[in-house]
Amino acid sequence: MKIKHWGTFAFIAIYHLLLLVLIPFVLPELTWTAFTLFLVTYIIGGMSITVGYHRLYAHRAYSANPFFEWSILLGSTLAFEMSALGWSHDHRNHHNHVDTERDPYSIKKGFWYAHVLWLFDADRSFDKTLVADLLKNPRVVFQDKYYLQLTLGINLAILLLGWYLTGNLFASFYFGFLLRMAMIHHCTWFINSLCHTYGSKTYARELSAVDNAILAMLTFGEGYHNYHHAFAADYRNGIRWYHFDPSKWTIWLASKLGMTNKLRTINTLTVQKSLVQKDRKLLIEHLEEEGCETAAEFREKVEHLSDLFDEKATALSAKMRELKQAATEHHGQLKKEIQALRTMLKEIWADWVALTHAATKQFQLHLHAH
Ligand SMILES: [Zn+2]
Ligand SMILES: [Zn+2]
Repeated sequence: MKIKHWGTFAFIAIYHLLLLVLIPFVLPELTWTAFTLFLVTYIIGGMSITVGYHRLYAHRAYSANPFFEWSILLGSTLAFEMSALGWSHDHRNHHNHVDTERDPYSIKKGFWYAHVLWLFDADRSFDKTLVADLLKNPRVVFQDKYYLQLTLGINLAILLLGWYLTGNLFASFYFGFLLRMAMIHHCTWFINSLCHTYGSKTYARELSAVDNAILAMLTFGEGYHNYHHAFAADYRNGIRWYHFDPSKWTIWLASKLGMTNKLRTINTLTVQKSLVQKDRKLLIEHLEEEGCETAAEFREKVEHLSDLFDEKATALSAKMRELKQAATEHHGQLKKEIQALRTMLKEIWADWVALTHAATKQFQLHLHAH
């Protein structure tokens, strides 16, 4: 790989060097105030990226009022990750072309490439059509235009504030700037490197993205990256209530305070439908190779159950739509039919999971449903 962007390279190399060289001198200066300064600026900068750049701007997974947007657009200058416009542009390319030559941080080019090296090599051409919606947002355009001034101004103000609070300019520089920036950088970069390497692929086996609960702790909840790539329109990355996803909690909490709205979620049925289709394809491909009698029997069951699931799921969606439009006197009957379909789908799903488990045992296959 040839370095194309020497400025970016020098900036990252020099600050990492400083970070290491200064350790013996800065350790005696570590106080609770200095640590708090680091933690608060780290959380503000990091969450502005995950809650804001990623889920609001790159994926439009929810809407936010101008106050919330400004908090993100200004808070994100603590992260040193370019403007929201440029970031979203690259990230949409990542999703549209994941694992191919056009993926700007493709894991196929190696772990370190996806982690950081891509920054020195990336093609910086800008396709306006990819972010046409964001170009209509005056706040995003303003942040992009004045990104350098905003970043310098806000970081200088924080350096001075940190100096005032800790009474120590060196501690403020190290903990409130250097260490904070490095931590945010690596946490974001982990999503492109580790979250495409170590973990499980529950929702899309065909992608390099993985789900990893430990990584979720390091990335403000972005560790459920396989689900995210499979269903990027969902404002959540960790969909279960116990999944550690502080970005999801923040967006949800802000909606209760009236600052965010139109939170988009993918319902369980859509997720299950997609898993059934993917497993059906994998199973049939494999069973064709097997060619034995058991395989033929399995194939019949696979086709029957997946067709049945699809049929009932489609019927349920149609009934739900009907319910929205129907006059109130028909609601009782429609609700009964919907309930019956739901119960049926639950049973078919359980049969499907049992079938995929049996197939996993018999043919050593890796499937989605569980
Ligand atoms: Zn994404
Ligand atoms: Zn990814």
